Amino acid sequence: MSLVSPDLTERSHTALADATLQTALKRATDTFIERRREAVAGVPDWEALRARARQIKEHTINHLDYYLEQLVEQVTALGGHVHWARTGEDVSRYIIELARARGVTSVVKSKSMATEEIELNHALEAAGIRPVETDLGEYIIQLAHEKPSHIIVPAIHKTREQIADLFAEKLKVGRAREVEEITAIARARLRHEFLSAGMGITGANFAVAETGTIVLVENEGNIRLSTQVPPIHVAVVGIEKVIPRFADLSVFLRLLPRSGTGQKQTAYVSFLNGPRQQTEIAHDSNSPNEFEFHLVLMDNGRTRILADEQLRESLYCIRCGACLNVCPVYQKIGGQAYGWIYPGPIGAVISPQLQGLKQAGELPFASSLCGACRDACPVAINLPDMLLALRAKAKETEGAHAGRRKLGESMAMRVYAATAQRPKLFVAVGAMVRRISRLLAKGGKITSAHVSPLDEWTRYRDLPVPTGRSFRAWWQEHKGDE
Ligand code: SF4
Repeated sequence: MSLVSPDLTERSHTALADATLQTALKRATDTFIERRREAVAGVPDWEALRARARQIKEHTINHLDYYLEQLVEQVTALGGHVHWARTGEDVSRYIIELARARGVTSVVKSKSMATEEIELNHALEAAGIRPVETDLGEYIIQLAHEKPSHIIVPAIHKTREQIADLFAEKLKVGRAREVEEITAIARARLRHEFLSAGMGITGANFAVAETGTIVLVENEGNIRLSTQVPPIHVAVVGIEKVIPRFADLSVFLRLLPRSGTGQKQTAYVSFLNGPRQQTEIAHDSNSPNEFEFHLVLMDNGRTRILADEQLRESLYCIRCGACLNVCPVYQKIGGQAYGWIYPGPIGAVISPQLQGLKQAGELPFASSLCGACRDACPVAINLPDMLLALRAKAKETEGAHAGRRKLGESMAMRVYAATAQRPKLFVAVGAMVRRISRLLAKGGKITSAHVSPLDEWTRYRDLPVPTGRSFRAWWQEHKGDE
C-alpha cells in the first residue's frame, strides 16, 4: 500500500523544500519532546517500568498462540464474535459482508493504524459503504484525501491555517481563526454521523487475554461514541496487541500516554467487555434493541515477523509515536516522505517486513543510527540494531534499494573505512579536512554554496566549522585530568 511511488530521496527533497511543512514539523516535534521529557521526569521508576513492559511483551510474543486462544475464549464467552483474518483483504471482506448483512451504509471510524495499514476505507467505499473518520486529525486528512503522517497525530504536517482553509473549502463554512472554532465545526458535523451510522470501527491499544477486554485510549471522546452509539462495534486488532493480564495495563497505561502525548493519562480510557448489554442500553426511541461486538484479529504479515528471531522485537511496539518525534530524519522529512503508512524509525523497521524488502528496502537506510529512538521507546525496542539487520538483508536481496545505492556514496564509505583503519593516515587526513573546512567557511558555517560535492548534505543543514585542533590532541592534553 504505497502512498506515492517515487523513491525516498525524491520524496525527502520535496518535504525539505516545503517551508510550511518544516514549520509544522518543528513546532509539533519540539512540543512533544518537551512534554514527554516533563512527563517522564515525574516518574522515578521510569526505567524499571520500561524494563517491565519489555518483559511482558517479550513473554507474550513468545507465547502468542496461547494468549490469543485465551483472548478468543474470553471474548466469545462475553458474547462477542471473533474472526481471524490472515490478510488485509480478509479483514475488509469480513466487515463488508457484515455491513451488507445488517443493511449498514455508513460507518464511523476512530483512529486506527491497523485499518490504515490495510486501506479499509478504500475497500468500504468501493463496496458502497461510506466511512467517516471521527478523530479530528483523521477527519482532516480524510477531507484532504491524504494519508496520516504520524502514528498518533495524523495531521501533524498541517498548520492551523491550512486546516482552516481546508474546512472552508470542503465544508463550505466561514474561515475559522482559532483552534476552538475548527474543533467546533468538526464536532457539529460528526455528531450527526455518530447518530446515523450503522457500525463503529475501531482498533485497540491493548486486548487483554485474561478478561477479553479491549482497551482504547483517546483524548477526544470519539471512540466512546463510535463504540457506544451504533449498534455494531467492530475492533480490528493486530495479533501483537494482546497482553496477558488486566494487571499488566498498570504498566502500559503509565508508559503510553507519557511517551505519546506527554500526558499522565489520556482524557478517556475505555475498557470494553463484549457487546453492550441490555442493562447498559439507554432506552429511548433511537436505541437499537441489540448491540453486537466483532473482534477481527489481523495477521497481515505479523506471523512472518514473529518467525524472525532477530526482528521479532518489532512486535513489542505499542504505537506511541515517541521514536518519530525524536528521530532527526523524521523531524526533517515528516511521515509522508517515508511512502508507507508507518513512518519514522518503527516504520523503517516494520514496513520492509510487512511490504517486503523489494518494496520498502530503502527505508532502513533513512536513519542516522543515533539511537535516540531506542532511548525514547517505552518498550526499549532496539530499533538501531534492527535497522542494521534490515540493511544487511536489503543488501542481500536482489533488486532491493541497497543494490542501487549511488556509486559515489559507496566509494566514499570505502575510502573512509580504509582511512579509519590507519591511525596515522586518519590523523593526517583529519588535519587536512579541518584546514580546508576553515578556508571554505563563512560566518562560522560551511554552507552548500561553497562545497559542491557535499551539496546534498549541506543544502538543508549548516555544517559547523571544525575547531582548530582534533579530539586526539585535546585528549592527549586532558587524559590525566580527573
Ligand atoms: S517503537 Fe517504541 S517508541 Fe516507536 S512507536 Fe513503537 S513503542 Fe513507541
